[in-house]
Amino acid sequence: MEPLGSVSFQKPKKEKKITVKFSREFSVALKHSLDLLSAAFRQPFTDLGVQAYAIGLDGVKPDHILLATKYLLKTHREFMPSPAQLREALKIALEQIEQAPTPACEVCGGTGFKMQAHPDNPENNLAVRCECRK
Ligand SMILES: [Zn+2]
Repeated sequence: MEPLGSVSFQKPKKEKKITVKFSREFSVALKHSLDLLSAAFRQPFTDLGVQAYAIGLDGVKPDHILLATKYLLKTHREFMPSPAQLREALKIALEQIEQAPTPACEVCGGTGFKMQAHPDNPENNLAVRCECRK
């Protein structure tokens, strides 16, 4: 059996580090989010891991990071969600908020449906979407 050769990688002379600046609110939200996810998915976090999530979630609003985290804590089953999965979860969570009936609606009382006369049979009522959900 031939001995295994060795491979050496030449380091670039000027190693460029990725540095990204974030607002204090972003950092606080991200830290809180990762603490929760880390606890829930039993996945310890390294500084590099936090940096990776910060880069992956750059541009996401701080309260949206927490919204996505909440959603994932309720729905995600396996493994620590990636930054991209947090972004996907945020989309779904925002859609759910948009679709939620307005609790203060006087017409439907928050159910999202109202009764109106059936067009073909006016003696019967038909449940239709309330204006607050359209
Ligand atoms: Zn309504």
